Amino acid sequence: MKILLCNDDGFLAPGLLALHAALQQVAEVDVIAPERNNSARSNALTTDAPLYVHQAENGFRYVTGTPADCVHLALTGILDYRPDLVVSGINNGANMGDDTIYSGTVGAAMEGYLFGIPGIAFSQVERGWRHLDAAASAAADLVRRVGSGHGRDAAPWLLNVNIPNLPAGELRAPRVCRLGRRHHAKEAIVMADPRGEPVYWIGGAGGAMDAADGTDFDATARGHIAVTPISADLTDHDALAYWAQGLKRSARMDSTP
Ligand code: MN
Repeated sequence: MKILLCNDDGFLAPGLLALHAALQQVAEVDVIAPERNNSARSNALTTDAPLYVHQAENGFRYVTGTPADCVHLALTGILDYRPDLVVSGINNGANMGDDTIYSGTVGAAMEGYLFGIPGIAFSQVERGWRHLDAAASAAADLVRRVGSGHGRDAAPWLLNVNIPNLPAGELRAPRVCRLGRRHHAKEAIVMADPRGEPVYWIGGAGGAMDAADGTDFDATARGHIAVTPISADLTDHDALAYWAQGLKRSARMDSTP
């Protein structure tokens, strides 16, 4: 199995180093990751500037762009083979519920998925890398279990995985669950720059709003590794009929004198 490994915290992040070490036990791994922290860059591509790719002493390649840039360039210009799997992470902090919309960690895996390659995004629930080795070894174990048995012609799939910061002995089995929902983000933080100009910092993410049984929030709170299959189709399928009927009705009203 050949894995392309990326992240959004940058090529020096402990989560990437730990996951790389663990994945080497189960696959051939190439790392192509952002030069600097690109958290919350989602699937952004850099289209207004050239991108440089450098190689670090440990063999990791790093790109002056976003996580999606890394995977996009890897698949369209850097690698001379097609990876079997794109893995992203381990991220410094949770990517649960609405986080997945913003997450650069998910964005990297999503980019591979858009190219037809299965992907897995890994995050640790709490920031600070506590019990990172346990998370990396659990992640590699999951890759070994799901990464085999899916041929090149199979439909691509995408998994979002959140791992509680627990020692190996306390981590509970992977639980397949849906995404929860967060409360709205906190207020922007307004400050003055050194010249007295107001500057704004984006506020923190909201707490869990829907953390019901069956969500990623609930699974990780109980010590389970949360595994959520996600897709790129943003269509609100439940609303298709509602809008089709509504537009038809308003067209009829328009044509009535
Ligand atoms: Mn990050």
